[in-house]
Amino acid sequence: PVPVLTIDGPSGSGKGTISALVAEHLGWRLLDSGALYRAVGYAAGMAGLDLSDVDAVTRCTHATKIHFRAAGDGGPTRVIVNGRDATDELRTETAGAAASAIASMPSVREALVALQLGFRKAPGLVADGRDMGTVIFPDAAFKVFLTASAAERAKRRYKQLKEKGLSVTLGGLQREIEARDSRDASRAVAPLKPAEDAVLVDTTGMGIDQVVAKVLAVVQP
Ligand code: C5P
Repeated sequence: PVPVLTIDGPSGSGKGTISALVAEHLGWRLLDSGALYRAVGYAAGMAGLDLSDVDAVTRCTHATKIHFRAAGDGGPTRVIVNGRDATDELRTETAGAAASAIASMPSVREALVALQLGFRKAPGLVADGRDMGTVIFPDAAFKVFLTASAAERAKRRYKQLKEKGLSVTLGGLQREIEARDSRDASRAVAPLKPAEDAVLVDTTGMGIDQVVAKVLAVVQP
């Protein structure tokens, strides 16, 4: 079978950055599953849907067309939602909160399973998310769970959003992230938790290169 490396963890644990670098190093494909939930939340918002209306949001999930396109300039992968480049809007914490709200719906998660499994192609896949090692790729050969202290995770997100020119405060962001993480961890379906066979990596105080080396060591000991 095509090898899979799952990288799960809470927001701000460094998953996105680390997954992209590790995939590039291995020459494997990358699945940013959070972007799928963000895209559905965004599409539902654009359609003026009530984000607690399970039937409407489920229909919207089936109808939403999501494409990833490599940026020509080596920048972040563009996410195209229903033909529109929504990359920048999807990075905001508003989109993160919308994603978390609709991600608690079993029918929405179910509607995204086949799409995610389709990313598993030779020579290998790095899958970034919350339930990659527990639900979507339980048979993955390599599993990592990244964590970091809440304060450090908020600081990282703050820096990322500031660099994008967004106006946010550290305290407000930390509260929003904590609310989202506790919802992700306490929901009934696919709660955020490490797979039993995952290698735990606490990235608090670690540099990017150090974390990449640790994760690569799981695949190539
Ligand atoms: O990773 P990211 O912050 O982009 O994910 C946004 C939200 O999407 C998470 O807070 C979570 O609620 C949801 N999500 C999920 N399962 C995944 C990836 C993301 O439920 N595999």
